[in-house]
Amino acid sequence: MSEPTVFTRILNGEIPGDIVAETDRVFAITDINPQARVHVLVIPKTQEYRDVAELAAGDPTLLAELVEVAKSVAADTAGGEFRLIFNTGAGAGQTVFHVHAHVLAGDLEEKSLID
Ligand code: 5GP
Repeated sequence: MSEPTVFTRILNGEIPGDIVAETDRVFAITDINPQARVHVLVIPKTQEYRDVAELAAGDPTLLAELVEVAKSVAADTAGGEFRLIFNTGAGAGQTVFHVHAHVLAGDLEEKSLID
């Protein structure tokens, strides 16, 4: 068994985290360092997939569930429009190797696509 990731520890209540949505297999938390008015991380409860490429290959249905939860969070908080980002690999800015989608929404007009 690998060490629990920071997200698993939040899910288990071992460290604080603001869980804003949850399904059987997915949960969503507010990012601790928000980059937009709405910045939520949507995360599979399992930590077996390190990044979105592994998730797409291993469980595409779970990836689709992640997108559904992202859509629902954006609908509840920002009129339903959102940007979905999966940093994939350290060189692309990934720091937590437990796949997660960044949902950015609200007041994005002046932000670059690749910020
Ligand atoms: P990555 O850089 O891997 O794409 O994204 C990791 C994200 O997790 C970052 O945006 C970072 O702010 C967030 N993060 C790291 N540690 C914590 C934490 O303890 N709580 C919360 N809510 N977010 C965290």
